[in-house]
Amino acid sequence: MRYFILTDLEGVAGNHSFAQTRTKDLAAKEPGMRQLAKEVNACIEGIRSVDADADIDVWDGHGSGGIFPGDIVGANLLPHTVKQFKKIPEYQALLFVGQHAMAGTPYAPLRHTYSSLTVAYYKLNGNYIGEFGGRAVTAAHFGVPTIFIAGDDKAAHEAQILIPEIETAVVKWGKGEEDAVSLSSEVACDVIREGAARAVRRMDQIPLLQGFEPPFRLEIRYYEPMDRERRQKPGVTIIDDRTLVIETDDLLSLPL
Ligand SMILES: [Zn+2]
Repeated sequence: MRYFILTDLEGVAGNHSFAQTRTKDLAAKEPGMRQLAKEVNACIEGIRSVDADADIDVWDGHGSGGIFPGDIVGANLLPHTVKQFKKIPEYQALLFVGQHAMAGTPYAPLRHTYSSLTVAYYKLNGNYIGEFGGRAVTAAHFGVPTIFIAGDDKAAHEAQILIPEIETAVVKWGKGEEDAVSLSSEVACDVIREGAARAVRRMDQIPLLQGFEPPFRLEIRYYEPMDRERRQKPGVTIIDDRTLVIETDDLLSLPL
């Protein structure tokens, strides 16, 4: 079995401020990056406790980088490029570690949708989605179930709205955009290890995400007026200064 672990930096235990994730200053980002690696390694251990021969790839989904390459144990770390996710059709299951909720979610720590500085919302075929939804819909379109999410409580709820049967591991509880209560590093890893094992054990009871069929219509709303000329491409309709719509049958061509 081939497993794809998708990681992000905002949903790990202990990261409560954008100063710990948005920065290029490695000293500020490092504690969260080390914790993310521990959480990913716990997820890998959980998968292997049920499926000893698992073939596991890890993709660092944090824009500026969230994982030090030497820190991942027992799995293959994919190159840190956006196009790696386009290989998702080759896998049998998708798991999230370190996931945060979408922009606009009340009390959600470090909430955002792809770009924390520029994107107000994404709507796919009429539904608000975040990074979880964008990726889980894409995986499901290719027959790949999303079986597990580790992250904050709001991210876990967001996942359960789309996939009620998904296995979750909550490592922190959001109290505001930059406010949360986290489990300790060690307990967060225990919860993830156990959750990932349950997800693999229950995999055949976790259905594919339903309800998103082609043609796909992705509406993107930006916080600030956009550069219309740069955004104008075939298949793109500019709705107003801050909003555009992309229409396509090809999910992998969307910025998800
Ligand atoms: Zn993210």
